Amino acid sequence: MPAQLHLFACLQDNYGVLVHDPSTGATASIDAPEAGPVEAALQATGWRLTDILVTHHHADHTGGIMALKERHKCRVTGPRGEAAKIPGIDLSVGENDMVQVGTLAARVIETPGHTLGQINYFFPGDNLLFAGDTLFSIGCGRVIEGTPQQMWQSLDKLRSLPGETRIYCGHEYTAANIKFAKTIEPNNAALAARTAEVENLRAQGKPTIPSTMAEELKANVFLRADVPEVAAAVGLAGKSAADVFTEIRARKNKF
Ligand code: ZN
Ligand code: FE
Repeated sequence: MPAQLHLFACLQDNYGVLVHDPSTGATASIDAPEAGPVEAALQATGWRLTDILVTHHHADHTGGIMALKERHKCRVTGPRGEAAKIPGIDLSVGENDMVQVGTLAARVIETPGHTLGQINYFFPGDNLLFAGDTLFSIGCGRVIEGTPQQMWQSLDKLRSLPGETRIYCGHEYTAANIKFAKTIEPNNAALAARTAEVENLRAQGKPTIPSTMAEELKANVFLRADVPEVAAAVGLAGKSAADVFTEIRARKNKF
């Protein structure tokens, strides 16, 4: 049976999301920004928390783990490279490891850059990606621990996922990301379409995620560093995609 999803806001601009396996009742919280909203989401759905799948060690993704674990006795899975920095870890995982949530299976994709140990969870049976702070809609995470080259390689890996992949990211940053993307691709038609869609969703107080990989490939400038027009727009015609990405990321930091 397909996974069921429940998305909700946490903290300032974080997202929490529950992934539920209807055939076994297993339910995973993707990250745990804070316990309260996760508890409220469990109440609202009637689902029982069996797992927490952690993407990286930052406090806005891990702050709720211990309270949830104590109450629900759930299993906590997280990145091997950051296990020492994440409270309550039961299972450490790395590239291509499979994680079960009931009968749902997730493949671990290592995406260093934002943090060095960051991992994303891809559920091939449902074409679902939980991208943490690696990939946002029309944006990407700040490169805090890794190098821009590493971040580009991580994003490049995600680009090969199926176009219909639904992408759930860690934050609602889409409107701000669009403003920046337009400074580089003012004439990108897919970006214009996404802008209209996002304005409409935000006016109704709705989340702008998930988006799909096919949409992001067309509209997210951070995934388009190998497009000649994008390279030319940042004055780096003929340079490598990693160089172009590095320049785009640096501009976003100052934007
Ligand atoms: Zn983070
Ligand atoms: Fe974050």
